Amino acid sequence: MRDLDRRTFPVVLAAPSGTGKTTLARALVERFEDFRFSVSVTTRPARGTERDGVDYHFVRRREFRRMVDQGELAEWAEVHGQLYGTPRSELDAAAERGDYVILDIDVQGAKQVRRCTQEAVLIFLLPPSVEALLERLQGRRTEAGAEVARRLQTAMNELQAAPRFDHVVVNDDFDRCLGRIRGIVESEALRAHRAQGLPELVEEMRARIGRVLREEYANTNG
Ligand code: 5GP
Repeated sequence: MRDLDRRTFPVVLAAPSGTGKTTLARALVERFEDFRFSVSVTTRPARGTERDGVDYHFVRRREFRRMVDQGELAEWAEVHGQLYGTPRSELDAAAERGDYVILDIDVQGAKQVRRCTQEAVLIFLLPPSVEALLERLQGRRTEAGAEVARRLQTAMNELQAAPRFDHVVVNDDFDRCLGRIRGIVESEALRAHRAQGLPELVEEMRARIGRVLREEYANTNG
């Protein structure tokens, strides 16, 4: 028998800023061909080498509001004074192609995804230490002091949510972390309720065994 067809699901990655979440999410989609990155919409201006339509869809507030009003976003949140959201179309396109869609979003967004998509798998990434987090945040030249302080405050709040996620992975060793996330997705995919047509398959197997029992073992005692 060949393997069962299984429904894919969204994989939410949340972590305090400075944990290396975005780098990890990008590496996942590069390394595994059935992983796809969910490109969010945001009102924040592009940074450095970021490209529109690749890293984010950069939009004005008015356009963002329109998308919210028309129900085009599966979730959205305000982070550090800017609006961010996941277009439903990103989730639909991945589901249609049978891909796992990786959502690199904040904790507020993760909670909304949990509420509206029971299927989603929520992974919280922890930095290996507070020192490592500080080093990454304070070392980012793109951010001023006030911005770093704001991100640290957010990190304090976001960390509180970790125990309520499905899985927690420490981003200490990059490759190990990638492997662990792949492992989580593989074992989540094996959950019985994700196997398509399983009740029918089981019924078919039982019917066949029943026939064998009737035809070949009808006169056997015990
Ligand atoms: P950054 O501005 O550094 O790219 O992202 C700031 C925060 O917003 C990060 O935690 C990032 O994961 C989160 N974020 C990015 N896209 C989305 C989204 O579509 N929805 C939500 N809720 N958060 C997002």
